[in-house]
Amino acid sequence: MARIRHLHAIEILDSRGRPTIKCYCRLASGAVGACSVPSGASTGRHEARELRDNDPRRHRGLGCLRAIGHIKGEIQARLLDTEWHTQRELDECLIALDGTASKARLGANALLAVSLSFARAAAAEQNQPLYAYFNAMLPASLQGPVSMPQPTINLFSGGLHAGGQVALQDALIVPLPGRDIQSQMQAMCEAHAVAIELTQAKYGMRNLTADEGGLAPPFPSAQAMLDDVMTCAQRAGLTPERDFHIAIDAAASHFRENGRYLLDGQLRDQEQMIQLYEGWASDYPLYSLEDGLAEDDWTGWQKMQARLKGRTWILGDDLLCTHPSRIAQAADMSAADALLLKVNQIGTLTEALQALQLARRHDWHVVISARSGETEDEWLADLAVGWRADNIKVGSITQSERLAKYNRLLEIDGHLSS
Ligand code: PGA
Ligand code: ZN
Repeated sequence: MARIRHLHAIEILDSRGRPTIKCYCRLASGAVGACSVPSGASTGRHEARELRDNDPRRHRGLGCLRAIGHIKGEIQARLLDTEWHTQRELDECLIALDGTASKARLGANALLAVSLSFARAAAAEQNQPLYAYFNAMLPASLQGPVSMPQPTINLFSGGLHAGGQVALQDALIVPLPGRDIQSQMQAMCEAHAVAIELTQAKYGMRNLTADEGGLAPPFPSAQAMLDDVMTCAQRAGLTPERDFHIAIDAAASHFRENGRYLLDGQLRDQEQMIQLYEGWASDYPLYSLEDGLAEDDWTGWQKMQARLKGRTWILGDDLLCTHPSRIAQAADMSAADALLLKVNQIGTLTEALQALQLARRHDWHVVISARSGETEDEWLADLAVGWRADNIKVGSITQSERLAKYNRLLEIDGHLSS
């Protein structure tokens, strides 16, 4: 399929002004692919490890020069001049070369940069769009035509993505399927415009945004945040259930203290959190509840899934870390029924595909997600289309690193419908 002639990598900046990696892969045919990798802040404990320099003299220790050195040195030396027949062969070689379960030796950021840039170069060599290359990776059980994911748009933020003024991390709005992507984006843009006006009128501020572009005024409570989503959507002319749903990313690992959850100034146990969510599932058009409990609160997740099953998707981000073994455990325990898939939580495309396969085998819902630290690279949109995700989660509809993905979806839609 493809022979690598040269790997190159540079340090670039992500949307938080922190260093990350852009990798260039040149094949013997002359085809070139370049990709950059994102980075999280509200990370799960079980994620693959990024390699950072830890040199306090550069970027507060966050430099990526060691990881880049591995790409240009050891990784390139191993990959050069072998005939790679599939993405999987290349990724398996990367995994073996690193040799650690967490990818800490060469760095998950280095491995993913190589995995993705090879994919883009191979797609170029085959003269196909990246989404078609990703679609062709699907095993027989998942095969089907490329499809447009429904966007989930971050309207309001708290938690680690903002100043922590409210513990709940993100309140998102989800357009309902059945409309084309242009109309869905239009409706979401209108709701977002109302949200800007509302935060200004109600909280006396404008444009105070969190890492993913969500508006971050000082909400008095998590419930007030959700009420504001309802108000904005309805003022934009959208009807609950008919035109939109609400999605929540609680990111509860990050407000857990000594086994309890500190939300709105009140310490709550597992049961009290589940009761709160049951109330929200009755009061709001709740599409999905992400990380409603902490990443290792397995018994809590089991109870939450049993109590909310069929009313909302129980979506695992920090719980699952896109890790096949954690997904298998969650499926065995009936602790979730939806996967948030973030490729850099696991480190290569092939392992992320295994995670997808496992989730689909259990009839789970799948959301392909960006990170809070992103670049203007738009490969995520191609991945969500090619891998037939139900949803894509990118953040707000401001900031170029977010818009790159939405605009790529619109572009792909244009290709597909022409
Ligand atoms: P991140 O998390 O900050 O680690 O990218 C985003 C999320 O919790 O979904
Ligand atoms: Zn999350």
